[in-house]
Amino acid sequence: MAERAFTSDSFYLYAGEKKLMGTRCLSCGKISCPPRPICIHCQSDKAEWVELKGKGKIAAFSVIPYGPMPFVKEGYGRDNPHCSGIIELEEGVKVAGQILGVDVKHPDNIKIGTPVTVDFTERGSWHYIEDVYKVRKVYPVFKVA
Ligand SMILES: [Zn+2]
Repeated sequence: MAERAFTSDSFYLYAGEKKLMGTRCLSCGKISCPPRPICIHCQSDKAEWVELKGKGKIAAFSVIPYGPMPFVKEGYGRDNPHCSGIIELEEGVKVAGQILGVDVKHPDNIKIGTPVTVDFTERGSWHYIEDVYKVRKVYPVFKVA
């Protein structure tokens, strides 16, 4: 079987298998997540897939009172905001995603450095157009450990 291309499509296929995957540059060893076909550190086009443990800590976050259609359809909105942010994984790479299990009604209680682990959720595609939204994907999310 041919190796999957280093693209976001492949990233979401792996997410559907409950795997958080990135690429490791075969030249400098740096990891990218989501994957990149060309290393942003040394511009090498030689890479390999690497499965990340999905353990990390909150590096930055925002509590958001509106959202794209998949979030609106799940009941997120002004009265039920969601938290999204940047997670610094144990492997040293930072990845964006929704953060679950935090006190979105009191954002002052959400702390940088809080440990989280990856989970996966299926929802409509990230779009406002109904026909595009209907295409469902599995997305990585992060839960307070
Ligand atoms: Zn590199």
